[in-house]
Amino acid sequence: MSDMRVSQKSSFEIEQVALSVRDLFGMYNDHCPEIVWALEAKLPTIIKEFALIPDGSALSPFEDAKTFYDPLRIELHESLYTGALSGVPLARHTLGHETGHVFLHRDQAKAWDMRRKEIKSREHSAEWQANEFSYHYLCPRHIVYQYESIEEIEHWLKVPRKLAERAFKEYSTKPREIPTYLRDILGF
Ligand SMILES: [Zn+2]
Repeated sequence: MSDMRVSQKSSFEIEQVALSVRDLFGMYNDHCPEIVWALEAKLPTIIKEFALIPDGSALSPFEDAKTFYDPLRIELHESLYTGALSGVPLARHTLGHETGHVFLHRDQAKAWDMRRKEIKSREHSAEWQANEFSYHYLCPRHIVYQYESIEEIEHWLKVPRKLAERAFKEYSTKPREIPTYLRDILGF
């Protein structure tokens, strides 16, 4: 898939956008949010022109899904749509990625000259940014830290193994020993 040069965003900045989008959809604290419902039913009430179109006829054979900006829509193969609905991790990640394009790149999509510029760092890459969005959208730290293994994250958040591994490494806190000074105060 061709990449596009967009204005620079760090992983931390993208995390803030992803958390805001969770909040916007009323699913901030959901462990496995209904991301298809969010796009199909909720987003069109916020952005009138938006539509989720489970019809892959506009896609190339190599594309599972694609975000179009004029008018704003995500087109995807029906198999991906039903996969995401039934909780297939990779389908959810793909839809999370496209959701990222909608929220991160909508305002830049008409600046076509950006495509021609060289992408000098990953923080300028639309594809990298959309993947980062999906990671933060599906694996937010305030949810992940509640789990104690990669397998649990994979199972309950319904995300691909690679995302679960990264999230566990970055956020998970193993159950801690109560420090001695606290034991004394708490009388344990
Ligand atoms: Zn993409």
